Amino acid sequence: MSTVASALLASRPRARLHARAYSSARARAATSRAAVGEPDGSDVFVFSAHRYELPTLRAALPNASFSDARLDASTAKLAAGCAAVCAFVDDDVGAETIDALADAGARLVLMRCAGFDNVDTTRARERGMTVMRVPAYDPLSISEHAAAMMMSLNRHLSESRDRLRVGNFTLDGLVGTSLRGKTVGVVGTGKIGRGFAKICGDGFQMRVLGYDKFQKDDFPGEYVELDELLATSDVISLHLPLTPETRGMINKNSIGKLKQGAILINTSRGALVEARAAIDGLVSGRLGALGLDVYENENRLFFKDFSGMDTKDRMLAWDETMAILGSMPQVLVTPHTAFLTKEALTEIANTTRNNYVAFRSGASLEGDAVVVNAR
Ligand code: NAD
Repeated sequence: MSTVASALLASRPRARLHARAYSSARARAATSRAAVGEPDGSDVFVFSAHRYELPTLRAALPNASFSDARLDASTAKLAAGCAAVCAFVDDDVGAETIDALADAGARLVLMRCAGFDNVDTTRARERGMTVMRVPAYDPLSISEHAAAMMMSLNRHLSESRDRLRVGNFTLDGLVGTSLRGKTVGVVGTGKIGRGFAKICGDGFQMRVLGYDKFQKDDFPGEYVELDELLATSDVISLHLPLTPETRGMINKNSIGKLKQGAILINTSRGALVEARAAIDGLVSGRLGALGLDVYENENRLFFKDFSGMDTKDRMLAWDETMAILGSMPQVLVTPHTAFLTKEALTEIANTTRNNYVAFRSGASLEGDAVVVNAR
C-alpha cells in the first residue's frame, strides 16, 4: 500500500462518516424516497469522498457510508458487505481492485465522473460487475474553466498575484494580447469543446477552428485537419477522451507544428499531453504558455495535501516534472477543478443516485450512463 493510501486509511475513523449521524433534512429525504419504494443507499460505500462534495453526496445518498480513502486494491475491503461502491476520477479501479471488490460482494461500481479510463471494464465484465457513470455534468462549467485558464495565462494573472504578495507592482513581463480576432483551435468538439468554442467566438470574438473525428452540425466554427489547427491557432484547447488513439497526441512532433508562442490548455485527461515534451516546448518558446487542469501522473498528487508532511514522506510522492511545471511562470496548473461548481456537483450526486436506483430497480439498463452492464 502506498504511503498516501495508508495515511488516508489511518485517518479512516475520522473520515468514514456514517450518514445516520447527520441532519434531519437527510432523514426526511430518505423517508420520502423510502415511501416511493426507492432503495435507501445503505448498501453504497463512497470512496474518495472529500469535504467539498459531502453535502451534495449526502443529500443524494443519505444512508451511504463515506470515506476519504482512495479506492485501490488495498482499500477495496472497506466496502465489505456493500453491494455498490462509488468512485472518482483518480481512483484505481483496475483488475486487482475489481477482484477485491467482487470478492467483498460488490456488484456495482458507480463512477461519479464521465471518464472511465481508470476502470478495467474487461475485468468488470468478467467478474459480473456493472459499471455506471455520470456521462455529463454541467459541461459548461468545464468550458468556462478552460476559458478562465486561457485568460489567466494570456493576461498573466497568476504572475500578477505572485508579485502582489511580495509588494512588486511593476508591469514589465505582464503584457498580454487582445484575443479579439485571434484564432482558437478546439480539439474535440463534443459537449465541452462546443461550449468553449461558443465562449471564444461569441464572447471574445475569436476565429474558431475545430478538429474532431466525428464532426458536429452545431459546432460554431470551421472544421480543419489537426495539423492545420496546430499550425494556425493562437490558443489550442483539448476536449477529447483519453483513448489509445489520443494518448500522447501532444508530443514532441505535434509541439513542433505549433504556431510560435501558442497557448495550450488541457482540461481533458493528463495523458493527452506528454508533459516533458511540453516543458521542452515552453523552454524553446514554441509553446508560449500551458494551462493544465489534468496531468499524466495526477493520481499520485491531486486531491492530496503534502504541505504538512515531513520531507521523507513528501519525497515518496515527489514528481520532478510537476516541480518543473510549477516553477515556470508561463504555466498554470489547477488540480482537476474544471468541473468544480455547485451546479456540476449537484448533477453528479443526483445522476449517481439515479444510476444506483436504476440498477437496484431491476429494470433494463440503457443509455450513456451504462459502461458495463453485467446484470
Ligand atoms: P464528449 O463525448 O461530448 O466529446 C468528446 C469529443 O471528442 C467527441 O466529439 C468525439 O467525437 C471526439 N473524439 C473522440 N475521440 C477522438 C479522436 N481520436 N480524435 C478526434 N476527436 C475525437 O465529451 P465531453 O463531455 O465534451 O468531455 C471531453 C473530455 O473532458 C472527457 O473525455 C473528459 O476526459 C474531460 N473532462 C474533464 C473534466 C475536468 O474536470 N477537468 C470534467 C469532465 C470531463
